[in-house]
Amino acid sequence: MQPADHPDVIVVGGGITGSEAAWRLARSGVATLLVTTSLDTIATLPGDGWSFEPPDGGVLAAVAGEARSASRWSARALHRGVKRDLERESALHVLQSTVVDLRFDRAGRVDGVVTWEGVERAAPRVALCLGTFLGARLSVGDTIERAGRLSELADDALFVRLGALGVRFVVREAGIAGDALSPGYRVTFHALHDDETDDQGRLWRLPGLYAFGLCAGGPCDLTASAEAGRRAAEALAV
Ligand SMILES: Cc1cc2nc3c(=O)[nH]c(=O)nc-3n(C[C@H](O)[C@H](O)[C@H](O)COP(=O)(O)OP(=O)(O)OC[C@H]3O[C@@H](n4cnc5c(N)ncnc54)[C@H](O)[C@@H]3O)c2cc1C
Repeated sequence: MQPADHPDVIVVGGGITGSEAAWRLARSGVATLLVTTSLDTIATLPGDGWSFEPPDGGVLAAVAGEARSASRWSARALHRGVKRDLERESALHVLQSTVVDLRFDRAGRVDGVVTWEGVERAAPRVALCLGTFLGARLSVGDTIERAGRLSELADDALFVRLGALGVRFVVREAGIAGDALSPGYRVTFHALHDDETDDQGRLWRLPGLYAFGLCAGGPCDLTASAEAGRRAAEALAV
């Protein structure tokens, strides 16, 4: 099995949704390449002390013991535990990079991705788990940044490319109040229009491409994002 060079599935985005999906896929023997912009932001929560209930049998449930006291999660412990468990899986390769384009076969089916370095990565199935990062703009005070979370830059290339391929989006917004450690901010981002995907996450206009979680119109909610990762693994394992 060569998840780095010959994956069965490429998962783009290592947030809660993508990490859960990639780990479950690898555990079920599917060679998986997880491409995410930064290894330092794997399974990141926008704040500390949040509450959520991940589904049983996944990587989030596996690290629950070390990352949770009562029902509240430590963002740092969650990130550390999930990153470690992803890197332990032999059927999973975690690659730090940003996807800027899609690859197509002769029949017009998506058969991989292109990263910002210009490197092509091939796989028969590609899953977008991009959270709040599609065409994202973050406002903090008077400043507007191209970011999906505070200090996490968003690259517009894939968003622009999907739009050029005819994919339709809806605009969404999320916000967080400031506290002693961090300023409050708001993020405006894009999710695929409901009509773009079927109930298995497949984009009907781009065969081979799937989308899950917030970027597919899912609720802005950690429990729902973890559940989206579980459903993604189910849909992609076939
Ligand atoms: C401001 C804010 C407030 C929120 N408030 C709440 C709340 O009160 N309660 C609650 O339950 N939930 C809340 N949420 C939602 C919760 O954070 C999300 O449900 C969850 O983090 C989404 O996980 P995800 O994996 O779908 O996306 P994300 O965590 O956004 O992960 C997406 C990942 O994809 C990577 N990525 C993006 N583009 C590319 C690319 N082209 N190539 C490679 N990698 C890429 C990003 O770097 C990121 O790591 C909030 C979110 C935000 C932003």
